[in-house]
Amino acid sequence: MSVLSLADVYRARRRIEGRVYRTPLIESPSLSAIAGMPVFLKLETVQPTGSFKLRGASNALAQLAEQGCRKVVTASTGNHGRAVAHAARALGIEATVCMSALVPENKVEAVRALGAHVRIAGKSQDDAEHEALRLVREESFAYVPPFDDLNVIAGQATIGLEIVEALPDVAHIVVPLSGGGLFAGVAFAAKSTDSAIRMSGVTMARGAAMHASLAAGRPVLVDEVETLADSLGGGIGLENRYTYQLTRDFIDHTVLLDEASIARGIVHAYEQERLVVEGAAAVGIAALLDGRLRDSRVQRGPLVLIVTGSNIDINLHRRIVSAMPAQSHSYQTP
Ligand SMILES: *Cc1c(COP(=O)(O)O)cnc(C)c1O
Repeated sequence: MSVLSLADVYRARRRIEGRVYRTPLIESPSLSAIAGMPVFLKLETVQPTGSFKLRGASNALAQLAEQGCRKVVTASTGNHGRAVAHAARALGIEATVCMSALVPENKVEAVRALGAHVRIAGKSQDDAEHEALRLVREESFAYVPPFDDLNVIAGQATIGLEIVEALPDVAHIVVPLSGGGLFAGVAFAAKSTDSAIRMSGVTMARGAAMHASLAAGRPVLVDEVETLADSLGGGIGLENRYTYQLTRDFIDHTVLLDEASIARGIVHAYEQERLVVEGAAAVGIAALLDGRLRDSRVQRGPLVLIVTGSNIDINLHRRIVSAMPAQSHSYQTP
């Protein structure tokens, strides 16, 4: 816990001010009715590059730029790569992004469009990461990790600050969980403010490396599988330094979701909230719809779901939405 201080998080906020938005926290009438308590959505979907990842990347890159760094490399399933590309361009730094061949084409193109070089390496997140580390060793790039880095974690933690400031009586925060940078940061900020705030992590049932690692009691490898929540894929690294321990220390509850449930979350976000969200961002909504967030310790809320990103292939989104019959009830007022 002592690896990070609240002062680091406030410094991160000052550093990224003007580069990322303080995002809206909106009440969801439909989800509040279903949950029987106030439910709020933290809309990271509106960030430039379409996800919260810009917070951590901007904080890490601003510090590297202060140190005179001119070229950075990262490995990414998409959103982190996009964020690094965007932040690098804003700071006048050259960015190279290594990705595995499993990353969807729309995400690859998006990174190129932001002015970064893309390097496709191997079939897994770990292969892409090895290539990035080779560039660091052999060509003196600075590495920007997607989650296991204190500057990245402090950047993501600014979401936690915004939530407790906007909603001081928040009882429960629900976070999509992959490498754990987001979870660790938000949980640190929230629990530093009020240790009673309950923290849930939600991820897909198959290929969830952090969940498998927590169950094993140490970082372990998992096979990557295709999932609608593609931004939650990838390993946590056998040499994980920070996010495994921070997540283990702060997590109160883990929810694992199947693909049909994630699809329902995407459809609910679209039909009831009028939001286009990617699978990884829909898992909190999906967990709530499945009744998986009921908790006797949190009976009155408020409950906050972090809606982490909007970067879904639009044709995939259209297929998911049209495959599911429209829900009969609508809480949306015209
Ligand atoms: C990266 C990402 C996550 C998970 O963040 P971690 O820090 O890796 O746990 C969740 N949702 C989206 C949209 C992401 O891009």
